[in-house]
Amino acid sequence: MARPGAGAGELNLYRRLPADPRAWFTDGEIARAASYRRPLRRVGLAESLLGLALLVAAVATHAAARLLGGPGAAPWWVQVLEVVSALVVAGTLLGLPFGAWRLGYERRWGFSHQTAGGWAADRLKELLVSLVLSNAAALGFFALVRATPAWWLFAWAGAVVLSVVLVAVAPAVLAPLFNKFRPLDDPWLSERAVELGRRVGVRIRQVLVMDASRRTAKHNAYFTGLGRTKRVVLWDTLLADYEPSATLAVLAHELGHWRRRHLQRMLAISAAVMLPGLYALHLLLASPAVQSWAGIRGAADPAAVPVALLAVSVMQAVWMPVTLWLSRAWERQADMDALRWSDGDGGFDAFRGMQRDLAVKNLSDLAPSRWAYLLASHPPAAERMALSLHGALRGASGSLHGALRGASGS
Ligand SMILES: [Zn+2]
Repeated sequence: MARPGAGAGELNLYRRLPADPRAWFTDGEIARAASYRRPLRRVGLAESLLGLALLVAAVATHAAARLLGGPGAAPWWVQVLEVVSALVVAGTLLGLPFGAWRLGYERRWGFSHQTAGGWAADRLKELLVSLVLSNAAALGFFALVRATPAWWLFAWAGAVVLSVVLVAVAPAVLAPLFNKFRPLDDPWLSERAVELGRRVGVRIRQVLVMDASRRTAKHNAYFTGLGRTKRVVLWDTLLADYEPSATLAVLAHELGHWRRRHLQRMLAISAAVMLPGLYALHLLLASPAVQSWAGIRGAADPAAVPVALLAVSVMQAVWMPVTLWLSRAWERQADMDALRWSDGDGGFDAFRGMQRDLAVKNLSDLAPSRWAYLLASHPPAAERMALSLHGALRGASGSLHGALRGASGS
């Protein structure tokens, strides 16, 4: 039987691969996933819009200037700490009802195992981390603004360094605040992982297992870190519920991200985008129209924090679809790598079986609308399964490698 996506020929990983979810999933499975996802999406949208509306209101009513009691009421760095802390706390408070709703919802669907106490402890830790990081970043920012008219250039350099340091340090410093990590202790899987890494030219430093089951019954794995913190992290739920051979297919996908340097590429791209972004911020904060609307005296005014946050939020929202489009392309690329490294049709069957099972168990959106598709970081399961039937995967791995390289443009 000819299945969608089974055609031979060119494969462009940066484009959507046509795939009919009904070829892989039953109507019942598709409907169940949709009824789980729809409320989550709506509540998420409502939360974002409300946050944005409140930020606009705070800027338009000059709330920060009122809070600070006018210029010179306190040293500049005290004012920065005041306004940044107020914004972080307000953002946390705004998120609480939505988060509490999500906790109840995930419990009703049988996913969340968290107690209200455990959930509250997570929010408190997030608040503290956010207070420290946001205030530190803001103090650095205002020190630059006060020091030089070309602050946007130095702020850009600082932001680039900070994002690299955060990606490198977060897996070792921030992630352990929320989860416990232990080395993978399945000897069969560890051996295969190291062997696969050697075969594809990735020196695997760490495969860690995270205690995700403390919070959720969902399954996942991810790749993160830079340099010595580089690691593949498998959720313990994955190891508990799947055969090691199936987990190996997931691990191979993560090694695809590793080998293709997707994290480094994303950092480089965001660095390139931040430069015009910060220049635009500089122009906005210097504009008399913005200054009079927001009631600020320029970029060096601590009361400018909410308007800067608003501008950055809008820029991020505009840029986000591009990031997600890239993410979907790189997911396809990692899938193609995992398939190529798995051994022939047995491996392809295992890959498809795993995709199907994970999508059904996690209630992933199986037939996303056009909008939901554009806002997803991963292609839907049907597309990933169709990818495994693509003609580009047939024949010698050498020619496939060529096809992949052509497709990725690298
Ligand atoms: Zn991935």
